[in-house]
Parts: sequence; structure tokens; C-alpha cells
Amino acid sequence: MPTIAPQPLPDVASEPAQPAAMNRPVRVLAAEDNPVYQTMLRAMLTKWGYDVVIARDGNEAWRILQSPDPPRLAILDWMMPGLDGVEICNRVRSAGREPYIYILLLTARTEPQDLVAGMEAGADDYLTKPAKAHELRVRLRAGRRIIDLQEELMRAREALREQATHDGLTGLLNRASILEHLQNELARAGREGQPVSLLMVDLDHFKAINDTCGHLAGDAVLREAAHRMKAAVRRYDAIGRYGGEEFLVVLPGCGREDACAQAERVRAAVAAEPFAACSQALPVTASIGVACCPVPFPLATDALIHDADLALYDGKNMGRNRVVVAAGEGRTCTICP
Ligand code: GH3
Ligand code: MG
Ligand code: MG
Ligand code: MG
Repeated sequence: MPTIAPQPLPDVASEPAQPAAMNRPVRVLAAEDNPVYQTMLRAMLTKWGYDVVIARDGNEAWRILQSPDPPRLAILDWMMPGLDGVEICNRVRSAGREPYIYILLLTARTEPQDLVAGMEAGADDYLTKPAKAHELRVRLRAGRRIIDLQEELMRAREALREQATHDGLTGLLNRASILEHLQNELARAGREGQPVSLLMVDLDHFKAINDTCGHLAGDAVLREAAHRMKAAVRRYDAIGRYGGEEFLVVLPGCGREDACAQAERVRAAVAAEPFAACSQALPVTASIGVACCPVPFPLATDALIHDADLALYDGKNMGRNRVVVAAGEGRTCTICP
């Protein structure tokens, strides 16, 4: 005889309103070795609006829970061939993957120590067999609330992380993040014997834009310049705002020649079209200093920035709107080919 007997269900209209996120079908794993219970679980869960994934034994359940996008809710029978429900709980919790999987253990055991063992293994809740349908239904609803809350938390955490690592005006990496990125790339270059180059970009006569068109127009120019530069760099390059109208671009795997070519693309992208930030079309240009790391002895972050800065300074003195590469070790910088 099935232990989970379908019961008359509470009137759906009398249920509390669910947030929008709870209206989409939620996938739920039902791991149960008894074919009769499997059929009943599938029928009930489907009727309640769940998208049901059945596992016929513990090993299959564990495989499903390890997949890249597993169901977030799992009903696990305690006693199953292969891994039992408690062992699966243990494994899920030790893996500590995100997003969180809410586990409801189904057990014929009623001894308090069994229930404690199940919860200690990482189950969020348990139901003893024979479980009543409406009880299973409300317990699952509690589980959905937990996973929805956890999703909200993850979104909030992601938004905070984005805020902490990106520049509010341009959306590029902020100063701390681009410097950290540079440091990581230099460490990697050292390990792998790969070159890495750095561009320091500075908008030309930017103060005049503020003075003539106002600070808000200046902000719009910064945003548009950032957008153009980002579109001009490769997918694996990193670009960040170093300060006011100064930007850094980290070019992993680029020696001098490639870095110059990449810098020229960035310069051309800024200068290509006048900006529409003022009442009149506004020509904007940038000067770029390029510094390259000698292989196999990468420079320290500060040294590379210093070189790029010197090259940029020379670029300004040579008339702006140009790319200049640092020769390194005190030699004079030269205009990129
Ligand atoms: P150069 O060609 O030599 O680089 O001249 P410049 O005018 O670009 O350089 P300068 O350092 O004299 O001026 C930079 C200006 O950038 C001054 C500062 O007010 C402005 N600035 C810095 N941050 C922001 C910002 O977030 N928004 C706006 N609108 N202006 C900013
Ligand atoms: Mg069983
Ligand atoms: Mg500047
Ligand atoms: Mg400037």
C-alpha cells in the first residue's frame, strides 16, 4: 500500500498570494525506489504545479543533484538502493555548492534519534511515512520560500559585489579592481612566462570640456569614452577607471607590438566620431602610454604603471591624440609604429 496517500487538497483560492517568482514551475527532485510511490509523487507534484524529476535510486539522485543546473528542491527517500537519503544529504552539504538545495527527507523511521541523524546530515525538513498529501504540499511550499529568499540574497550579494568592484559613472572596473587585476595578471605572466602590457589612457584637454559644456556634459563624455574603449578592447582584456579622466587597460599575452596595435585601436575608437554631449558636436581625443613587461622577468605593478605614466606624459608633450610606448629602464619613449 502506498504510504503517501493523496488527500483532499485545501482550496487553492484560499491560499496566500505567492510572489511572482513562486508562480513559475519549480523543479523538484523526487528520489524514491518504490514504483508505486514514484507514480503517486509524480502525479501529486505535477498537479501542484511542480516540474518533477524522478530518481529511482540514490545513485541516480546524487547524479542529478551534481548536474550543472540541479533542481533546487529535493524529496529524498531515506531507504533506497545505492546511496541512501542521509548519505546524499551529507554529500550535498559537504559539496557546499550554490545555489542552495532544500532537502526534505521522507522516512519510515520515527525514532527521535533517527530524525536527529537526518537533520544533522543536512536535511532541512523531514516527513514520516505515511505522509499526508497536504502536509507534503505545505512543507514544500516552506522549502520554496527558503530557496526564493536565498535567490534574493544571492542577487543582493551580486549587486553589492558589482557596486564594490565597478565605477559608478562609467560601469568599468574601479581603481582598486583594475589594480588587483593587473597584479594578478603580472603574477600569472611570471608563472607562465607570458608577456603582459598596460595602457594608460588620458582624455585630452578634458578640463576644457567641463569648463565649456558643464560638469554633466563632462560626465556624459566620460561614459561615452568608456563605452567606446570597452568596445575596442578584446574580450579577455580588462579596462578600469584609474582616476578622473584616466583609464587603465591590462592586455594579457601582449608584447610591445600587439600592445601598440591594441592601443591604437583604443585611441581611434575615442577619436572616431565627435561626441554628442554638448550642444555642438564635440571632438574628443585621448593620449595613451603603453608599458610592456619584459619576459621572463615581469615588473612590479608600480613599475609598469610608472612606465606607462612616463610614456603618457611624453604623448601629451608630443601633441596629444597619440600612442607612445615606454622603452623601459630609463630609455626614452617612442611613438608606436
Ligand atoms: P590633459 O590633456 O593634459 O590631460 O588636460 P586635461 O584637461 O584633460 O587634464 P587636467 O588634469 O587638467 O583635468 C582633468 C579634469 O577632469 C579636471 C577634473 O575636474 C575633471 N574630472 C575628474 N573627474 C571627473 C568626473 O568624474 N566628472 C567630470 N565631469 N570631470 C571630472
Ligand atoms: Mg525506499
Ligand atoms: Mg589626467
Ligand atoms: Mg586629461
